[in-house]
Amino acid sequence: MSCTYVTLSTGQMIPSVGLGTWKSVPAQVKQAVLAALDNGYRHIDCAAAYSNEENVGEALRERVGPGKSLKREELFLTSKLWNTEHHPDDVEAACRRSLTHLGVSYLDLYLMHWPMAFDIARHKPVVNQVECHPFLAQQQLLTHCRDRGVAVAAYSPLGSPDRPWASPGEPVLMGDPRIKEIARQYGKTAAQVIIRWHVQRGIICIPKSITPSRIQQNLQVLDFQLTDEDMKLIESFNRNERLIIPTVEASATIFLTSNTLKKKYLQ
Ligand code: NAP
Repeated sequence: MSCTYVTLSTGQMIPSVGLGTWKSVPAQVKQAVLAALDNGYRHIDCAAAYSNEENVGEALRERVGPGKSLKREELFLTSKLWNTEHHPDDVEAACRRSLTHLGVSYLDLYLMHWPMAFDIARHKPVVNQVECHPFLAQQQLLTHCRDRGVAVAAYSPLGSPDRPWASPGEPVLMGDPRIKEIARQYGKTAAQVIIRWHVQRGIICIPKSITPSRIQQNLQVLDFQLTDEDMKLIESFNRNERLIIPTVEASATIFLTSNTLKKKYLQ
């Protein structure tokens, strides 16, 4: 299966569809990554906070490198710096830990997972990874980023039905009858229509799945095109509804992986 790409301001080409790995538990993520690579995915979205990079690395070691089916340069690997490691003293060690866990010598993209520290940025971001799906279409942000040469990557592109805090009765994007009707007209699944919508908007998207048949179908979005009317129709489903809302409980245990925080709080 050939792949479409978004060109980043650095000149790098990022495959439009990648495999998401949040919530893919260690026992499942290795086979999900193997299924993805074997089906033509060349972009894997990882993060230290997903606590499964070592297992992603096990899959990479089986398929990538000298004498294996893929060269490292054929893959686009993203990882992310967790919120407890923002201090400049902690960044390199955190990045090296991810490299070791993934078993690679470099990353193609290293994102600040949640840039909560509000530092002033001296370097323009290359990719802005944000929640985006038909219920949160992000049109203004998309235009803003496009005007400034910043690529947008959609996380939770399918509406994250397995997010841990989903409540019964909440609207399920892939179950929306309007999306299902469009999917029926094209002979595709709801997920494929949504992924195609992202790709046609020029957005990178990283649907997560641990199910081989879904991993395969999520990449099969290049053999059809949504009409302009259908693109606009899907955009009209926007409800400005954010599903991924980080919450902090006063009583929760906070992992102090940062050396700076450890020094500050554990002395
Ligand atoms: P998502 O990709 O929108 O949805 C994943 C869910 O959809 C899983 O329950 C999966 O089920 C199901 N699914 C996948 N393909 C399907 C298909 N073809 N038909 C029916 N169901 C399908 O949700 P997400 O995991 O929240 O977001 C994707 C990725 O974005 C994450 O895994 C992570 O890599 C990234 N992310 C980044 C951030 C950030 O802060 N930067 C935040 C959230 C997410 P199965 O797995 O059971 O097949």
